[in-house]
Amino acid sequence: MEISVLGAAKQVGRSAFLLKGDKTRVLLDFGVLLGREPAFPVHVKPKDVDGIVLTHAHLDHSGATPLFFLSNGVELHATDLTLELTRLLIEDFIKISGFYLPFEYLELMNMLRRATGVSLNGESQIGEFKVKFLEAGHIPGASIVRLDNGKQSVLYTGDFSADDTNLLRSALTDWDEPDVIITESTYATADHPAREDVEEEFVAYLKEVVEQGGVALVPAFSVGRAQEMACVLKNKGFPYPVAMDGMALKTNDLLMRHQEYLRDADLFRRSLGNLDIIRSWGERRRIVKQPSVIISPAGMLVGGASVFYTNEIARTSKNAICIVSFQVPGTPGRTLLEKGITLINGRPRKVKAEVRRFDFSGHSGRSTMLDIFKKIKGSPKVLTVHGEAESCIKFAQDLKELGMESNAPDAGDKLEV
Ligand SMILES: [Zn+2]
Ligand SMILES: [Zn+2]
Repeated sequence: MEISVLGAAKQVGRSAFLLKGDKTRVLLDFGVLLGREPAFPVHVKPKDVDGIVLTHAHLDHSGATPLFFLSNGVELHATDLTLELTRLLIEDFIKISGFYLPFEYLELMNMLRRATGVSLNGESQIGEFKVKFLEAGHIPGASIVRLDNGKQSVLYTGDFSADDTNLLRSALTDWDEPDVIITESTYATADHPAREDVEEEFVAYLKEVVEQGGVALVPAFSVGRAQEMACVLKNKGFPYPVAMDGMALKTNDLLMRHQEYLRDADLFRRSLGNLDIIRSWGERRRIVKQPSVIISPAGMLVGGASVFYTNEIARTSKNAICIVSFQVPGTPGRTLLEKGITLINGRPRKVKAEVRRFDFSGHSGRSTMLDIFKKIKGSPKVLTVHGEAESCIKFAQDLKELGMESNAPDAGDKLEV
């Protein structure tokens, strides 16, 4: 068996790995690196691939998959919910970044026509490989995947979180005895504060902002984080108006049809019950003037209604912007967080509103990750990917200390097993 690292090497973005068995070649994710212009993984010819396994809908995992559907295409397997969410995110991606993309809507449609939807924790087959999808706790529909050809097996974590959240159950971490593990390392060097504390602090802060007559923007990814934020506020009895905008609303509709993927479907339904749904520019202009909390994509302030909200909310010091997810270097969200600067009408401006970060993560922190790896049986070779360089390198060292052969690969590296 041979594994080629095509992306996510010492960075968060363009996750892509090619697994070659005796006869079958399977691509594990084929995402993009989001920035000013999207960047792609190491090139692979569609004719050199028999199938694609997609772990979850985030564009850093799914964003470049339509490239394989310019002509006949290949098989693509993912959970049924991941397929629907991927459609949503790539449609939007084409709308926003179409100019930079070597594919169009037609290729996305070809892809979805060829795709096989697998049920939650289900199995499928691509050539010689049996593919098992294990719940990943990262976003709705996300899976950790295990591929087995009867001789050897590979476990690829995609992105995962082994802690329960309001919206999702924690990841399944009974990984058997894989020969190779490809693991994400996003937060492998840091522990998250206790989630309960973060939730308390978040809700108390938002109350304070609204009670002072301010508006709080919570830029959140449309898939998962936006809904989690609404659930946190509902669960804690937040007494003021909460609005939701953008593609998060479409995700809500999809989740209503796939409630088996949710930890507490009842809480989710109740959280939608009292949301102020924002669908027009008139409503946007109204809500930014009303003391409230606005949950809106995009999570890293790249496009989406959150750009409008940031411009409005940034002008006044009693307002707040709450960053609730990982910000990739080079994105407007990261610049805002590090420098307190945003672009207003194309010009960098100091933000007057308070910017605060809350550590709601969809990725496991350091101790959780080490605990999981300590329990793994056998002697797998481990590739640490999907993290900033220092995280990938440090985590590989930690795993070596646990007695595992591990390294943080570069793009283009190959591993023979
Ligand atoms: Zn992800
Ligand atoms: Zn990712």
